Amino acid sequence: MAAKLIKGTEIREVILEEITQEVKQIKEKHGMVPGLVTILVGENPASISYVTLKIQTAHRVGFKEVQDSQPVDISEKDLLALIDKYNKDDSIHGILVQLPLPKHIDEKKVLNAIDPDKDVDGFHPVNVGRLMIGGSEVKFPPCTPAGIQELIVRSGVETSGAEVVVVGRSNIVGKPIANMMLQKGPGANSTVTVVHTRTKDMAFHCKRADILIVAAGVPDLVKPEWIKPGACVIDVGVNRVGEKVSEKTGKKVAILKGDVDFEAAKEIAGYITPVPGGVGPMTITMLMRNTLRSLKFKLGLM
Ligand code: NAP
Repeated sequence: MAAKLIKGTEIREVILEEITQEVKQIKEKHGMVPGLVTILVGENPASISYVTLKIQTAHRVGFKEVQDSQPVDISEKDLLALIDKYNKDDSIHGILVQLPLPKHIDEKKVLNAIDPDKDVDGFHPVNVGRLMIGGSEVKFPPCTPAGIQELIVRSGVETSGAEVVVVGRSNIVGKPIANMMLQKGPGANSTVTVVHTRTKDMAFHCKRADILIVAAGVPDLVKPEWIKPGACVIDVGVNRVGEKVSEKTGKKVAILKGDVDFEAAKEIAGYITPVPGGVGPMTITMLMRNTLRSLKFKLGLM
C-alpha cells in the first residue's frame, strides 16, 4: 500500500483527550463545565443509537449532559417552548435536536429556534453566514466538515495553494467544506472546485486534485484513474452495500463502503481515509469541540 492511512479513530482519541484536559482546566479556574442537551423525539432506533453515542462521549470528556426524551406526539408548540427553555438556561451551551423529527413538526422552524450561540451543529442560518465570512466570525464550524479539515491538517497535508476538489454540494458536507478550505487562514488557503451531478467532466477535475474530498453517497463513484498520484483522498461516503455476521458479536451488521474504490485508490494516493474509521469518528468529536467552544465564547476565552 502506497498511501498513508488517515485513521479517524486514532485522531479522535487525541482530540477527545485534548478536550478532556481543557474542560478540567476551565472547571478548576472558572467552576463551569460545558453543558450539552440532546433532545430526542420518539423512539427511532437509529436516532437512539446516535444519541447514546453522543451522550457517552459527552460524559467521557467531562461535560454536563442532559438527555431530554420527548414522546413522538409532542406538539410543535411544546417542542419550541422546550428549546426556548434551554436557550435561556445558563448551564447549557449546546442544544442538539436529533433528526429526523416526526412529520407533524416543521424541522426548519425547530432548528431555527435554537439560539445561534448554542447551535453547536452549526446549521443555523446565522452560523452558515458566519462560516461564509470566515476568520474570527466563525463560531461553530459544522461537525463533519470540521472533522475533515482536522484529518487533513493533523496528517500534515499542505492546504495552502493546494487544488482541492470537493465531490458533492450538500448543505451539510460539500458546500461548507468547500467554503472552509477556501478561507484565508491556516488549514485552508486552497483553490477549490466543487463538482456535482451536472458537472460535465468529473474525471478532469478530480485528476487535478491535490486534496480530493468525496461526499456523494455513491459507492465506488471515484475511479482509481481519477486520482492524482500522491493526492490526499478524504472519503466521506458511507454506503450500506450488504450485511455480514460480526465476528465479535455474532450479530448481523451492515457492510459499509465509501465513495472511492479504496483498494485500488490506496495504491495511488499519498494519504487516504478508510470507510469505516476515517471521517465517521470525527463528527461527534467535533460536536464536543463546538460545545467546549461555546462555553469558551461565553467566558471570553475565545
Ligand atoms: P447528499 O445530500 O445526498 O448530497 C450528495 C451530493 O453528491 C449532491 O450534491 C449530489 O449532486 C452529489 N452527487 C451524487 N451523485 C453524484 C454523481 N454520480 N456524480 C457527481 N455528484 C454526485 O449527501 P450528503 O449528506 O452530503 O452525504 C454524502 C455522503 O456522506 C453519504 O454517503 C453520507 O452517508 C456521508 N456522510 C457521512 C458523514 C460522516 O461520516 N460523519 C456525515 C455526513 C454524510 P447534486 O447536488 O447535483 O444532486
